Amino acid sequence: MIRIVCPHCHAPLSMTELEQANINGHLSLICPECAAVLVSESESASETHSLAEHFPEALFAHA
Ligand SMILES: [Zn+2]
Repeated sequence: MIRIVCPHCHAPLSMTELEQANINGHLSLICPECAAVLVSESESASETHSLAEHFPEALFAHA
């Protein structure tokens, strides 16, 4: 199981313990201890987009 440590309150959390919230139309994972946003769907999407720009051929590696 993947476990992460909240950078704000340093609580060890599993992915299933995180609370999901919809912020500005983007799914985010919230620390249940301090309510900090740990993962934002929009940030992940932007990272994927920049990776695709640098490695466009990688998108076709799975096909
Ligand atoms: Zn926290």
